[in-house]
Amino acid sequence: MTASLTFLGAAGTVTGAKFLVAADSANLLLECGMFQGLRELRERNWAAPPVDPGTLAAVLLSHAHIDHSGYLPRLVRDGFRGPIYCSAGTADLLKIMLPDAARLQEEEADFRNRKGATRHGPALPLFTVADAEQALGLVTPVAFDQRFSPARDIDARFRLSGHILGASIVEVVLGGRRLVYSGDLGRYDVPVMRDPIAVESTDTLMIESTYGDRVHPPGDAAPVIVQAVRRAVDQRGWLLVPAFAIGRTQDLLYILRELEEAGRIPSLPVYLDSPMGIEATTIYERHPGEHDPATAQVTAQGRRPFVPARFHLAPTSEDSRKLNGLDGPGIIIAGSGMATGGRVLHHLRQRLPDERTTVLFVGYQAAGTRGRLLRDGAVRLRIFGEDVAVQATIMATDALSAHADQAEILRWLRGFRHPPSMTYCVHGEPKAAAALRDAIEQQLHWRCAVAADRQRIDL
Ligand SMILES: [Zn+2]
Repeated sequence: MTASLTFLGAAGTVTGAKFLVAADSANLLLECGMFQGLRELRERNWAAPPVDPGTLAAVLLSHAHIDHSGYLPRLVRDGFRGPIYCSAGTADLLKIMLPDAARLQEEEADFRNRKGATRHGPALPLFTVADAEQALGLVTPVAFDQRFSPARDIDARFRLSGHILGASIVEVVLGGRRLVYSGDLGRYDVPVMRDPIAVESTDTLMIESTYGDRVHPPGDAAPVIVQAVRRAVDQRGWLLVPAFAIGRTQDLLYILRELEEAGRIPSLPVYLDSPMGIEATTIYERHPGEHDPATAQVTAQGRRPFVPARFHLAPTSEDSRKLNGLDGPGIIIAGSGMATGGRVLHHLRQRLPDERTTVLFVGYQAAGTRGRLLRDGAVRLRIFGEDVAVQATIMATDALSAHADQAEILRWLRGFRHPPSMTYCVHGEPKAAAALRDAIEQQLHWRCAVAADRQRIDL
């Protein structure tokens, strides 16, 4: 059997992951991600599909993040009808992620049409909620470690990667040759998710390199969170935490509960003001098998790992608005994580001018986002067309990253018993991918290259 691998996205960039595995018997698409970020990348979502969707036997998905899954509704709209294989946790998360991504697409098209901002007639969404529902109908969950056959003469298996719930390392075996793709790799000894599973051998390896040029700061997020909560108590103010609904929110709830139980912070009212965050937390609770030993032990003792003592949910916008009238101290967790949209904007508009407020960023803040401006010390911020004065205290921690850093990637690679014949760095900016390649060559003495966009290699 002859087989090839073509990098159709996440090569030279971190988004749009799509890898075509072409064999004599069938074609598979590994990942079906949306391009995000810079305009020239986003425009690639609108180009003709890089492979005729009707010729694909199946899609294999490592995890639910939109840069790995968000192109699925478009692929289905353009003719894909095969199964979409993923872990059970990923299948559950897709049920909230894909319709949400579709709603954003529809809202953006509506907005552009109302503003008359399009040069080429009515703006259309990249895909609709109906397309997302159709894609969900093709999702076929497979248990971790279980071998399955996505197409004739091809075997595959998902292994736990620990990045977010459901996240998988993907193994594909065809014609006696083995391909391993790390997916997004999680971290070692962090709360909630288990360590990435060690893989023993492969012929070809694709390794993610998001943080291929960086090492996360040592220590954990607890001291900064303690400091932020104590400030809210001292000031009798609110602690606002802009957080991604999936992963970061559950990490934060877990740590708040642990700190309360250890007596390091008082039990303040904690409001989870995010419909997606509420659903994601329920999904995390439903998959205890993926939790790390400490989290599993909390569950085994009959307690709920993501529920602090005074926990409140705000599913509706009415619930969210009611928080405006409440006095502190208290904690509000709301999206989006970089304050680019979502309910956290309403809270920031109301509470930033109040010097009793504390804002804690727990994730990466991309250039140009409100989160980045605040972290960089902005004294005014534009929200809903208003100039809002920033009197609040802004804090941040980088310790909750869900991606392995360079040292952790190398630790995972050292778990291989034999060097792969060839290793390709994918899913990284050029600088990060090159730094990881250099580290792999120098420290492990493996053959390694940075994957090039549209490059095709024989397996
Ligand atoms: Zn991811």
